[in-house]
Amino acid sequence: MLSSLLIEHGSIIDGTGAPPVAASLLVVNGAVAAIGAEAEQRAAQDAKVARYDARGCTVMPGLIDTHCHLGFDDAGSNIELFTHRRNALSALVAAYNARKLLRAGVTAILDPDSLFENMLDLRDAIEAGIIQGPRMSCGAYALMTAVGGTAGRLIADTGVTGYGRVVNSRDELVSEVRRQIKYGADWIKVHVTGIVPRQAHKGELSVWSFAELKLICEVAHDLGTPVMGHCRGAKATRDAARAGFDLLFHATGMDEEALEAVVERKVPICPALTFQANMADFGDKIGTDRSLQDLFEKEITDSAETLMRAHAAGVPLLCGSESGFSMVPYGHWHYREMEVFVRYLGMTPLEAIRCGTSAGAIGLRMEGVIGALLPGYQADLICVDGDPSQDVTILGEPDRIRLVMIGGREMDISPLPPRRKLDGWTIAAMGGQLTRDVAFSNTRRFTEPVEVRELH
Ligand SMILES: [Zn+2]
Repeated sequence: MLSSLLIEHGSIIDGTGAPPVAASLLVVNGAVAAIGAEAEQRAAQDAKVARYDARGCTVMPGLIDTHCHLGFDDAGSNIELFTHRRNALSALVAAYNARKLLRAGVTAILDPDSLFENMLDLRDAIEAGIIQGPRMSCGAYALMTAVGGTAGRLIADTGVTGYGRVVNSRDELVSEVRRQIKYGADWIKVHVTGIVPRQAHKGELSVWSFAELKLICEVAHDLGTPVMGHCRGAKATRDAARAGFDLLFHATGMDEEALEAVVERKVPICPALTFQANMADFGDKIGTDRSLQDLFEKEITDSAETLMRAHAAGVPLLCGSESGFSMVPYGHWHYREMEVFVRYLGMTPLEAIRCGTSAGAIGLRMEGVIGALLPGYQADLICVDGDPSQDVTILGEPDRIRLVMIGGREMDISPLPPRRKLDGWTIAAMGGQLTRDVAFSNTRRFTEPVEVRELH
């Protein structure tokens, strides 16, 4: 028996970049069956059709966040992640946080890497219907060289540290890629760049040889698994694109050669600039130094033009929030990359929505299946009070998200039960340095810490 639902009286944004249309949408057996007059005709012939009144709302594909660390529980630092977290508990906490994503209209995520590789387990639990959460595609441990990733010397010289694993020889590299695939990695994640503390002024450096990057792609691709890379800087982006990477994170700092390499293979980019935008716009509210705020804004403004040129040349740009850190807590900022694309990259809201929906399907390896509201696509959709094609920021207002469906199944977006503190889970920040100057001056150096509004 087919189950049918007619979502009527709403306006539809299909996620392809097309303008909104006032039309009904018929969902049959979890998929979009028809839109417009055909949807209404078919519903009229079906005595058992359920109806949802979307008056005043926009019906659109659910948001796809292609850079979300669901296992990090809004960590304030790498130390917290590397030394204070436990395997089973962090997976259980992630199950709680997954519902915050649903409440924010997120129906699918790409989780690049996780502690204990445990987001592979969360993904499987969601797929099996054991808990509710967005569709997930996952990397396992991020591959690093002994130089490490962005956490500098916190990364041990060998083995696993937090979300990363150092591989010190080609043999180790090959066996680790195969092991990750064996245990269910959808993607191989590589930290192509890292920070060398004594050379930090140069920014992130490429820490792999080109031959090594190629080897990763060969081994992964042979086993039907794509490769994604964290790349800042021109050389890393160029090398990763040429080596055969299937998705690049950040890709800020491209030069002409890097841009050419990316355009040549149309390698999708998820710039994940939301973290920087939050720091630039709101950092002062949590005590961030102005100079650091300016530095973060500069990463956006310096890369905006190149990213837009890549986009214009046919390179898909995907939306990622980097949620999982205290600067981008779950449920609050998943829409914001679209706002960044409008404000800094000059996209129209509809173009940005396309990046945050249908283009995002690339990150889930479900192109043509999710991310658009067209006949035959899975009914991963949300109803939003208002018109995001006029202003994408309304997607960030939780009270406007009225209905969230994944594969035609309505998700529970009721308020979450409050959670209490987990002992030994976080590190209390002591704030800035209390010199005599700060202690005895009359001007306050730090604003009061801002309460992070929980989505209850
Ligand atoms: Zn990340």
